[in-house]
Amino acid sequence: MPEEIVSGIYRIPVPLVGNPLKELNAYLLKGADGNLLIDTGFRQPACREALFSGLRELGVRRGEVEVLLTHLHSDHAGLAPEAAGERTIYISEVDRPSLDDRSYREKYWGIMDVRFREEGFPRHLMAKMNETNPARSMAPPSGGHYEGLADGQILEKGGCRIQCLLMPGHTPGQMCYWLPERGILFTGDHVLFDITPNITSWPIMPDALGSYLESLNKIRAYEPALTLPGHRKTGDLKARVDQLLCHHQRRLEEALSVVKAHPGRGAYELAGHMTWKIRASSWENFPVAQKWFAVGECMSHLDHLTALGRVRRETADGKAVYYAV
Ligand SMILES: [Zn+2]
Repeated sequence: MPEEIVSGIYRIPVPLVGNPLKELNAYLLKGADGNLLIDTGFRQPACREALFSGLRELGVRRGEVEVLLTHLHSDHAGLAPEAAGERTIYISEVDRPSLDDRSYREKYWGIMDVRFREEGFPRHLMAKMNETNPARSMAPPSGGHYEGLADGQILEKGGCRIQCLLMPGHTPGQMCYWLPERGILFTGDHVLFDITPNITSWPIMPDALGSYLESLNKIRAYEPALTLPGHRKTGDLKARVDQLLCHHQRRLEEALSVVKAHPGRGAYELAGHMTWKIRASSWENFPVAQKWFAVGECMSHLDHLTALGRVRRETADGKAVYYAV
């Protein structure tokens, strides 16, 4: 059931079945100049049903809406081509090629696979991962008319003036959308309130966590009357940014002490010594997708420690290992 949050802005909850994120927030901006949909859900039946019945209730048909994506992840972008039809799908220019350039996407996944193997991620688990990862199986299909957005660019759509704010970290091209006249900020997955956004390693962002921390400080300067995140509930932006900054400081310290206690190991083993909220009896029994995210998160912390000069990364025979400096 869609709800009107403020005049002309509606939230359509889209369930993410079996996913720890639980629900995606799609937002519809209804204006005299047309409709704009922010984010869509996975390309899977439960999401499709929720999104399109929500839009129908709001008097919007498939193909009658332009789409604005906060970032490239499949739980946000998966249904964009179906929703927009012949109309435009906007996304940051940085994230755009991952969606509309198949060879770019394949090259990207190839580089990531090499990195995960270097870090010791077992080959048989990688194969299993590639079959089941929703990021890969539920991504938007080819097709769709994408247009890239630049940092600071203004869009006038859905009855609103929207300023695009590039906030690299969660993805290289993660964007927040700021409505200055109304004091409304759409954060996508840059700031979430009841879950910590996943920060992993990216081929085109050598220190993703460093970029993310910088972007947190950048968004902290805004004073929205209302913050609308990509998943679940809203809250106080500054207080939440401070919590996230603290969280990553603690995680950096934890990663450093794990490297000190287990020198000469790769991220796969090191991640097994860090603490995780996932309920599993041991690191071996972690569900494979969660293991993938955990190792990615461990890597982004190791990359940042490396950039800070606290940790040294050495590679030999296709294997990467870490030492405290
Ligand atoms: Zn995301």
